[in-house]
Formats: sequence, structure tokens, C-alpha cells
Amino acid sequence: MSLKIIVLAKQVPDTRNAGGKAMNDDGTINRSALPAIFNPDDLNALEQALLLKERHAGSKVTVITMGPARAADILREALYRGADEGILLSDRAFAGADTLATSYALSQAIRKVGEYDVILCGRQAIDGDTAQVGPQVAHMLGLPQVTGVRRVMESSSSAIVAERVIDNGVETVKAPLPLLLTVDAAAAPCRPRNAYRMLRFHRAATPQEQAAPGYAYRAQAERDPALALKEWSLEHVGGDPARCGLAGSPTKVKAVENVVFKAKESKRLTASDEDIKSLLGELLANHTIG
Ligand SMILES: Cc1cc2nc3c(=O)[nH]c(=O)nc-3n(C[C@H](O)[C@H](O)[C@H](O)COP(=O)(O)OP(=O)(O)OC[C@H]3O[C@@H](n4cnc5c(N)ncnc54)[C@H](O)[C@@H]3O)c2cc1C
Repeated sequence: MSLKIIVLAKQVPDTRNAGGKAMNDDGTINRSALPAIFNPDDLNALEQALLLKERHAGSKVTVITMGPARAADILREALYRGADEGILLSDRAFAGADTLATSYALSQAIRKVGEYDVILCGRQAIDGDTAQVGPQVAHMLGLPQVTGVRRVMESSSSAIVAERVIDNGVETVKAPLPLLLTVDAAAAPCRPRNAYRMLRFHRAATPQEQAAPGYAYRAQAERDPALALKEWSLEHVGGDPARCGLAGSPTKVKAVENVVFKAKESKRLTASDEDIKSLLGELLANHTIG
């Protein structure tokens, strides 16, 4: 029994390595100063998808990302690691989307894909950090959802048994297909890029990229349909413009504040048992731990 698997993956600025120029003066992210990366939780989600694919011969993994043209980079990244197909959802009409409008656009793209058994997302993105998109997409598609998944333990054509991370523990749940899973950072890390797949898929390109003067692999792309990344606009996914982008975003940002953490005081300790004991005593006394 094969599964049709969709992974939602977001290209994010690498906020974990933010330097001094990471923020603009108006408090917005200076995206040009931060490298764009595959959202870390989404790599965990991709790995769960690839494990399901291995377990169910003949399965297909489709990765969808919504973003500007350069987000096609993470589709190639997913192909290097074992995904079968990449779809870029890109349109000016999607710009300025909050989580509701993002979820609507992604759910429209999933409807266009049509057949699916399992949709996997990361639990949260490291830039927006809301963890809202997965649950909202499930709601819009009328699907059951299991959030914060650490491991898919069993899978069949009708159900999945998964371990999910909860406060102070782990819960095992069984849910029927089709369904949506959000994958926690505690899940298995994604496998590395495969060298053979890199040689083949570094030529994969969206129609826009293929049309660019610098694209040197047109002949290969004509022979190998897997090199064609799909690019869908609002028109392709048949969405309501009023529910997309800024127009479809009820969130209003009132103010943005720069918060700079500064150490007020510091203490130098040695690795001796005595120093460690005194530090633990201090942390317990002021309820930092325990
Ligand atoms: C008023 C407003 C305007 C905004 N305008 C912009 C803008 O112009 N440009 C911009 O980049 N951001 C914009 N944002 C931020 C944007 O709304 C969020 O980054 C986006 O909705 C995802 O939310 P999140 O990052 O909290 O994702 P989370 O909910 O934390 O993500 C959970 C998971 O959902 C999936 N996912 C989330 N986003 C995507 C995606 N784009 N493609 C595929 N999968 C995804 C991933 O699997 C991810 O791990 C705006 C936000 C607001 C409030």
C-alpha cells in the first residue's frame, strides 16, 4: 500500500545566527543580512515523510513551499534528500500574508494537488514562531491533526500511531487517514543530501528559473521531467483574492520593539565540586531551577 505524502516547508532567515545587522532600524528583519535556510522543524517533518515512504513502497513525497522565487532553493534541498516533487506557491497576491492567509493559500495548493493521505508540517517556523499554520491548514481541509509528533510508530492505509511531545512527557495517539501531523524538533534529524541526487537535482528549476538567460540545463530538463519544479500562482490554485496576502490578513502589528538582552552581572566559576554545588544551591534558592 503506497501513501501520498505532502510536506509543507518554509524558507526562513537563519534567526539562530543573527548578527548585529539582523534588524532594520524600524524593527523589521533585515532579511538580506541573514542566510535563508530550510526551517529546521520542516527538515524533521521531511525525514518523517521519507521514513513513511520507505515503509510503504511506491509512496510519493511532494514538498510545497509558499514564498518568493528564491524559495525554490528549499525545494531543491528537499529533492537532494529524497523528496519526489517540489511545488513553489508564489504570487504577489500572497505577499503580506499573516498565518491565516498563509494557511488558506497552502490549503488551496493542497486541494489542487488533490490526492493525499498524510500532510506533514514542522511544529513551528523559527521566524514567525506561532505554530499556527499546521493546525489552521488541517482545520481548513477538515482533517484530523496530531501536533508535536516525535515519531510515527505504526502506519497503515487507514491510520497512523504517533508519539507526540507534551509537557512533562510523551503521548501515544492513533488517528485516521487522511490527516495532518506537525513534527517536533525532538523528532529524528533529516538524513543528509544524497550525492547522486545533488548531481541530478541541482538542475531542477521552476519555469521562471528555466526561462532565465543563465539557466544552462534546458536540454537535460527536456529529457528529465523530474527537473521541472512546479510554480503555482493564485490563479492556479483557484483562491479567493480577499482571503490571500495583506487583504486576507486580520492580524495588525501594533508596534515592533527591539529587545537586546544584556548580562547585568557575571560570575566566574571553576569546575570544582564546591563551585558547582554553590551555584546549584543559588539557582534552587531563587527558583531558576527546581
Ligand atoms: C500582518 C502580517 C504581515 C506579514 N507579511 C509577511 C510578508 O510580507 N512576508 C513574509 O515572509 N512573512 C510575512 N508575515 C509573516 C507570516 O505571516 C508568517 O511567517 C507565516 O504566516 C507563517 O507563520 P509562522 O512563521 O508563525 O509559521 P508557523 O505556524 O510557526 O509554521 C508551522 C509550519 O507551517 C508550515 N509553514 C509555515 N509557513 C509556510 C510557508 N510559507 N510555506 C510552507 N509551509 C509553511 C511549516 O511546515 C512550518 O514549520 C506577516 C505576518 C503578519 C502578521
